[in-house]
Amino acid sequence: NETQGLNFLQEVIEEDQRTGKHGGRVHTRFPPEPNGYLHIGHAKAIALNFGLANQYGGKCNLRLDDTNPLTEDTDYVESIQRDVRWLGFDWDDRRFFASDYFDRLYAFAEQLISQGQAYVCSLSPEEISAYRGDFTTPGRDSPYRTRSVEENLDLFRRMKAGEFPDSKHTLRAKIDMTSSNPVLRDPPIYRIRHAHHHRTGDTWCIYPLYDFAHCLSDAIEGITHSVCTLEFENRRVLYDWIVNALIKGDRPNQYEFARLNLTYAVMSKRKLLQMVTERLVSGWDDPRMLTISGLRRRGYTPASLRDFARRIGVSKSDSLIDMGVLELSIRDDLNETAPRAMAVLRPLKVVVENYPEGQTEELEVANHPKKAELGTRKVPFMRELYIEADDFQEVPEKGFFRLAPGKEVRLRSAYFIKCEQVIKDAAGNITELRCTYDPATRGGDSPDGRKVKGTLHWVPGNAPVAQVRLYDRLFSVEQPDRDKEKDFKAFINPASLEVVSDARVEPSLAQANPGDRFQFERLGYFCADAVDSKPGAPVFNRTVTLKDSWVK
Ligand code: ATP
Ligand code: MG
Ligand code: MG
Repeated sequence: NETQGLNFLQEVIEEDQRTGKHGGRVHTRFPPEPNGYLHIGHAKAIALNFGLANQYGGKCNLRLDDTNPLTEDTDYVESIQRDVRWLGFDWDDRRFFASDYFDRLYAFAEQLISQGQAYVCSLSPEEISAYRGDFTTPGRDSPYRTRSVEENLDLFRRMKAGEFPDSKHTLRAKIDMTSSNPVLRDPPIYRIRHAHHHRTGDTWCIYPLYDFAHCLSDAIEGITHSVCTLEFENRRVLYDWIVNALIKGDRPNQYEFARLNLTYAVMSKRKLLQMVTERLVSGWDDPRMLTISGLRRRGYTPASLRDFARRIGVSKSDSLIDMGVLELSIRDDLNETAPRAMAVLRPLKVVVENYPEGQTEELEVANHPKKAELGTRKVPFMRELYIEADDFQEVPEKGFFRLAPGKEVRLRSAYFIKCEQVIKDAAGNITELRCTYDPATRGGDSPDGRKVKGTLHWVPGNAPVAQVRLYDRLFSVEQPDRDKEKDFKAFINPASLEVVSDARVEPSLAQANPGDRFQFERLGYFCADAVDSKPGAPVFNRTVTLKDSWVK
């Protein structure tokens, strides 16, 4: 079976190529509205549209779907372009704006009126929806439905000329008020909005609605396969109605796939915008946000997001993807590519009593256990060191194989040390461990074959201080916006960010460049924050833990 392993869109395309539909062409588009930053759901749509074009020798356009002047902005246009490029996709010279088609869309609207297929309706928006009914209530004809072509043309031109206030008149397609599908009950296609548009300024005071603008923009660009999410399924008949009424020859077709839903996340730009404006996060690129810019700042790689899109696949039924799948994608990528390093989040001082005062030796440490090409680095070893406070227990609980009084452990890539004495302050807090080291164990193994059960990460006593940001999921429930009655923001996880301001990192990390990624041994994958980290004053974001911490 030659279609085995293909998703339903690949099947459609291969069938179209067999039958010669669209002359064998494949032309897709990614059509974001520039009213917010792109999120991980968009990454799925980007990978899908650009991926299909690449696979079948076709083209994919980037179209800024900017027909609503109230919510759109050029900042968003910039961020969208940056994010698509960063993901590794290229629209070449095929970046378009729906607003570039305003003249042509207007001409199409006049044509529809002339064909007797659209009319100017003077009901208010509230009346229009009351007359429209819904799936259980039938629609009723607007009293303006029988206006003549001449009157409609005259009114529509005067709408364009700015004679009327917002919502005074609406242009509606004349389809079927008795249709069982409310979408076909004379949908509005143009409305009056006296609003400044980020690209066309004040040229227009009427704007086309999605159902009219989108399919015709597809047709204008020669799109063959117009892929959108499942909510648009019952609008496909309207899409076809409009292109059939106005376009001769090869017409685009709409196909619907399941949008991405992820656990512990909200995915709508409107909700993400609320979190930004209400300052519940630091911005669109807050590393806890599942925006592409947030994921980038968190340390995700473009390859990991493409891999994620591949893993989840494309289907025709909605599902909820476990956040763990996204984390798996970045873990798998960074496991291969991230150099290893050591950092201590909660430093506990260790004094190696038998190590000469004032002496330092440079240990040569491999940057990756399997990839010699990632090279080595120097880590200084000296009499004073830091280990992780919770790698020591004065009275070790059962199964604790790390450091304890009288016990010996390995310091990663260095020596065995043994705890001889615990120093406390007046309040009884442990302030320092006195240890000895075995010079024969340099590199981490004992020539006498002596075994230790624990290997600890550590940093030298002169290790620079760094800020480390530990992130957890932004929401504390799997589906924060499942209950429409409840405010999703009530489920924000109050512990989603922990800032450790006095972590210590091995000296080589002090000069990390913003965006550099590492595995901190035993702690997870981290990247130097692209905004706040500076060479000499490093700030690290934890991208992901080493293991799925959700199955503790
Ligand atoms: P939002 O509700 O988040 O604002 P949207 O669909 O209104 O999303 P658009 O800017 O119109 O946002 O989206 C551009 C493209 O991305 C559309 O083709 C849409 O189908 C797709 N898309 C948006 N969200 C998702 C998602 N969660 N999963 C897959 N594709 C998505
Ligand atoms: Mg949209
Ligand atoms: Mg939207």
